[in-house]
Amino acid sequence: MSKQNYPKTEKCRVPGCKRNATIEVILYDFYDNTGTPFFERDSTCPFLCAEHAIENEHTAVGSRGPKYQKHKIKYRYTKKRPTTGFSVYLPLNGQYKMKKECL
Ligand SMILES: [Zn+2]
Repeated sequence: MSKQNYPKTEKCRVPGCKRNATIEVILYDFYDNTGTPFFERDSTCPFLCAEHAIENEHTAVGSRGPKYQKHKIKYRYTKKRPTTGFSVYLPLNGQYKMKKECL
């Protein structure tokens, strides 16, 4: 997921929003029976501007809690198909970096 994979001007996918996206939306889950993470771009709402990401979080209803409850979280804009997991956000400008000692 390097910076060059993204066009410079992805738009926020909230209907009617004209702002440039600053965030890529990821659907995340962790299957604790197999130790397998699920980490995939949210096809129902792949990009958000900062304002709508904040709103999406502030209006989320439910829990990111343990297995079998994760699917209960509902968002205003993201995760619009029934599935387990919850939304996490990556900055589109490539600002996320691993610390050297983690590599
Ligand atoms: Zn927006």
